[in-house]
Amino acid sequence: MTVAREARGTLESLSTTCVIAGAGPAGMMCGYLLARAGVDVTVLEKHADFLRDFRGDTVHPSTLQIMHELGLLEDFLKLPHTRITTGNLEIGDAHFVIGDFSRLPTRCKFIALMPQWDFLDFLARQARKLPNFHLLMQTEARNLILQDDLVRGVLATSPDGDVEIKAGLTIAADGRHSTLRGGLKVLDLGAPFDVLWLRLPVKPGDPADLIGKVRDGQLFVMIYRTDYWQCAYLIPKGGFDAIKADGLSKFRARLKQIAGFAAGRVDDAITDFDQVKLLTVTVDRLEKWARPGLLCIGDAAHAMSPIGGVGINLAIQDAVATANILAPILQKGVPGLHDLQKVQARREFPTKVIQAFQVAAQNFLLAPTLTAMRTLKPPLLVKALNRWPWLRQFPARFIGMGVRPEHVRLPKP
Ligand SMILES: Cc1cc2nc3c(=O)[nH]c(=O)nc-3n(C[C@H](O)[C@H](O)[C@H](O)COP(=O)(O)OP(=O)(O)OC[C@H]3O[C@@H](n4cnc5c(N)ncnc54)[C@H](O)[C@@H]3O)c2cc1C
Repeated sequence: MTVAREARGTLESLSTTCVIAGAGPAGMMCGYLLARAGVDVTVLEKHADFLRDFRGDTVHPSTLQIMHELGLLEDFLKLPHTRITTGNLEIGDAHFVIGDFSRLPTRCKFIALMPQWDFLDFLARQARKLPNFHLLMQTEARNLILQDDLVRGVLATSPDGDVEIKAGLTIAADGRHSTLRGGLKVLDLGAPFDVLWLRLPVKPGDPADLIGKVRDGQLFVMIYRTDYWQCAYLIPKGGFDAIKADGLSKFRARLKQIAGFAAGRVDDAITDFDQVKLLTVTVDRLEKWARPGLLCIGDAAHAMSPIGGVGINLAIQDAVATANILAPILQKGVPGLHDLQKVQARREFPTKVIQAFQVAAQNFLLAPTLTAMRTLKPPLLVKALNRWPWLRQFPARFIGMGVRPEHVRLPKP
């Protein structure tokens, strides 16, 4: 089926088999996979491009495995990226290696750090090769079209005016601030901290690593990005206004205490609070991911804490599970509620396990450190991981491959 256009007054009307609101990792991958399986898909993206700074850039081994299964890995890895093979933690002056991706039983034994817009551009290029994939940029889904209790598509706005997109299935992949959840109830798990993202320069001789730093009640993460360090500075929830009120020089002094070998670069690199991007951390999930005609996936179904950098990867896993379960049904007709519920049944367990880990880390490790204002003793687990290298594959496996990893089950039609 192709998209049919008909003009009714000023409202343009389209029809498609599946409409996906949001061309982030979840929506774009799901759109690509469904179209690859022969389903007519229309993906809506409210922005004109994918350019967004400090988005999830951590492409984990689980996602690289999917790219391999799709036959896209070789071309994907030609895009500029940085490879991270170990996770490191500095507590005070002591250095610990706590994760090792090189022992994972996957095709790629590393995390690829790549700007999210390159990742999405790449997927969009692949998807556009498929005749039944339609990507409408600058098109914002505003409302669900409802027929009694059944969702029948979305009403959207585009530069050319309003558009009604009718579909047998609507997928809300519009991110953590989703406005298309159709009244589905959100469970907020809480997060006691926010993250300030900033960049520091790289210098020759710097380690090409991912380093977490803990010192004097401060938490800092440095991610090597070849030509800069992507840095996360953790602050107590809602604390950014107070930091700004204290002024830039105090903030720089705090950064210098924790930035270690990069401390001397802070003054020149951070000259304005505009260079600091606030991520308000949210951890939540929907009680039910679906209602008749509507399915939520990715951050729209479950916003993740940045701990472990799992957000994109979980979104991709949701997309793969959705396509595996629903493509065969969409090839023939319209999925019922029980079909949509199968996606939640498949993906809820991994989401719950990872969120439980993130909430425990937040509450028992991060929050006490941020409030203690002193360097805590290294936990036993950290010491054990550092001491026995073979142990380090287990946290790497949990973070890099996730729980219940998905695989592409759909052959090309
Ligand atoms: C500052 C920041 C840093 C992060 N760092 C990491 C990290 O290091 N590692 C990691 O894994 N995750 C990280 N994340 C989280 C990660 O980006 C998300 O988990 C992931 O992108 C979720 O993918 P998604 O497709 O579900 O949603 P999103 O990526 O949020 O995509 C939703 C898309 O929908 C579009 N959209 C929204 N509303 C509409 C609408 N009504 N109509 C049409 N389009 C719409 C948006 O423009 C967007 O393109 C970070 C997030 C932020 C904000």
